[in-house]
Amino acid sequence: MYQIAKEKLPELFRKITQTRELYLPVETCGQVNYAPWSEDAKVDLDTLKTVKSAKDAFFPQSENLYTCYRDGKKISITPQELKEQPFVVFGMKACDLRGVEVLDKVFLADPVDTFYAARRDHGTIVAMACHEPEDSCFCKAFGIDCAEPKADVAVWTAGEVLYWKAQSEKGEALTELVKDLLEEAADGEEKVEAEKDRIHKIAEALPYMQLSLEGWGGDVLEEKFNSPLWEKLYRPCLACGTCTFVCPTCQCYDIKDYDTGHGIQRYRCWDSCMYSDFTMMAHGNNRTSQMQRFRQRFMHKLVYFPANNDGMFSCTGCGRCVEKCPQSLNIVKVIKAFAAQGGKTNE
Ligand code: SF4
Ligand code: SF4
Repeated sequence: MYQIAKEKLPELFRKITQTRELYLPVETCGQVNYAPWSEDAKVDLDTLKTVKSAKDAFFPQSENLYTCYRDGKKISITPQELKEQPFVVFGMKACDLRGVEVLDKVFLADPVDTFYAARRDHGTIVAMACHEPEDSCFCKAFGIDCAEPKADVAVWTAGEVLYWKAQSEKGEALTELVKDLLEEAADGEEKVEAEKDRIHKIAEALPYMQLSLEGWGGDVLEEKFNSPLWEKLYRPCLACGTCTFVCPTCQCYDIKDYDTGHGIQRYRCWDSCMYSDFTMMAHGNNRTSQMQRFRQRFMHKLVYFPANNDGMFSCTGCGRCVEKCPQSLNIVKVIKAFAAQGGKTNE
């Protein structure tokens, strides 16, 4: 275990960027999101939740796939190069790490998404324990320990010190790179254990941490799908898609062509199952009402995904949708509404 004084973090970031790209929470116009480090970036490691998760580091909101160039009758196609530069994502929390596990199940399964796989290969994650878990958090419901992030490197803050522990080969390599700036932490284990206890006490007292997922999972497809509750729950939904864009596990995307005037640039960008034109085909859309689209989002996270992934839910309890939905609709509300029925989902 190593330690570094918080005041020396700019030096640490500078050192990392000598050989790697570095993404970390940066405040811009009052919002904190992951962005590249620069000398004048307003780094904010105190805000618990970035507005968007760190998902962009591995699955960017928009990325080119290939470019077609037309020159008279000749057309050339240039595939987009895969990520080759090593990079570090600093400051991810345990819930967002689970988000990456979910994305791995989707993008690294056959057929492998080469763009995502290249980023996963080249990325090193330095994750932070959640110093102050918040009211909207419910990671514990999904078996996530917010005091013990499982990443290449885990860090804990206590007072003006940051404790650093490598947990993988990539983490060891990064530690080696910045070793000149780290000191052996003689009392590190003790300090970190005290910090974990403190975090657990805060987490235990939060309103949604004890949320029960009883009655959800892969075996309840028809029962949940046919519930009349969806008709009541979906009504306030504006179909704005905010919940999907802030979510660390939502992975739907669209592929589009941009006319460059001398060909096209084919790119993909995040899409939302809440949108009426999502997966639109020549014959129309297979989900024709907002109720169906709303139901799809939650059925996918709480029933379909666990059914196909050994019980793993595709929600991490990060609470972003709890905070950001303009209509106060969210996955907690859905789970509670079903629980209030005492498991009777068919009236
Ligand atoms: S953020 Fe709320 S209103 Fe917007 S699509 Fe999601 S559930 Fe509907
Ligand atoms: S559904 Fe909501 S709480 Fe769950 S991972 Fe997505 S944004 Fe976070």
